[in-house]
Amino acid sequence: MEKRALLKYAYDSTAFYKEKYAGINLDGDWGEIPMVSKGEIAHGGLSVISSKYYSRLGGPGMVSDYTSGSTGECLEVHTTEAEQRKALLSLWLFRKKHYGMDARSRLCYFYTFRDSGGDGFYEYRKNGLGFSKEWLREEHLEEICDRMYDFEPRWLLLQPGVAMVLARYFFENGLEPIPTVGYIELTGEMFTEEQRRFISKAFGAPVASQYGCNEVGTIAYECPFGHLHVMEHNVYAEVVRDGRVAGEGEYGNILVTAKNQLVMPFIRYDTGDVGRICRVACQCGRSGPVLELSGARKNDLVTLKSGEMVSANLFCRVFQAIAWSIEGRIFQYRVEQLGIDEFVVSIATDEREEEVETLFRDLIGETELRGGTFRFAFAKYLLPEERTGKFQFFTNYLS
Ligand SMILES: [Zn+2]
Repeated sequence: MEKRALLKYAYDSTAFYKEKYAGINLDGDWGEIPMVSKGEIAHGGLSVISSKYYSRLGGPGMVSDYTSGSTGECLEVHTTEAEQRKALLSLWLFRKKHYGMDARSRLCYFYTFRDSGGDGFYEYRKNGLGFSKEWLREEHLEEICDRMYDFEPRWLLLQPGVAMVLARYFFENGLEPIPTVGYIELTGEMFTEEQRRFISKAFGAPVASQYGCNEVGTIAYECPFGHLHVMEHNVYAEVVRDGRVAGEGEYGNILVTAKNQLVMPFIRYDTGDVGRICRVACQCGRSGPVLELSGARKNDLVTLKSGEMVSANLFCRVFQAIAWSIEGRIFQYRVEQLGIDEFVVSIATDEREEEVETLFRDLIGETELRGGTFRFAFAKYLLPEERTGKFQFFTNYLS
């Protein structure tokens, strides 16, 4: 369905959208249609579900999945197996076209313990071997890598943080890349070009980024020429800034309208991510919209002394500048704001620690955070948070 038909379907079939769009001209300017936040959907409960599917919830062919966010809202997403297949169809077409992978290709992946039905630290499935992220600790890396070698996967589906830990283990222990692996897909977090090159080199395989969210599935997929093409079969994507549709190339909040979700419609849904849309005549042959993501999410905000909030992207820029000026590498970093002007900076690097610390202090002195207190914690690996299984590069404990 196209976006206007989806909008009318949502209005006609759900109490949530009927109320939200009361008094709105559904044939009017698309930019005037109210946006929807994760919190609204989370609080909407059953009113977000299409009345056509009420009676089928929990029945055969229906699927539900919990998704939690950095903002703390938990959301139960309902869909059907058929919708899930449709949503993934073109991702599989492009995986096949660009990297030769199909649904039968053997795969290794990592899952969050909480989300898995199993009770172990790893799970063997028909074509896949999954590891719990909670098990990703230095003392288990040898066993994880041994099991990966033995499984002979053709590709790996990883969060960038997991991939960095594994890539370093391979690299620093002089391990040969797994000979069967021909493709690595990174999803779930932002990563830098340096990280991409490092992961690709350690595994001896090309790396592509897949951007999506649990609510609507795949939003964009990177082609071999480095462009994150919007998956137009699955979503209509747009960027909004200060409440209006952003101009081409202008940064703002990424909104999506799901094209394959009739059980639980998502119309102009705010992903919480920041980015921009460009038109590119790409060498891969695709001509649709291309997304460029900003390093930080909308909610990654640093609290300043004045009470003002600024994007945590300033840390991305500082670490980028550090990476450019040192011989060694910044493998990973994490910043936590504990109080006003009080931060803990965790870094995994092979550069001299004092060198990195001095550069950080110099560079942060050029930003709004000058005069702040920064404590440094250097670690060999930065591992996922035990509680959530996530790698968050910035956490603000004040907000
Ligand atoms: Zn392309």
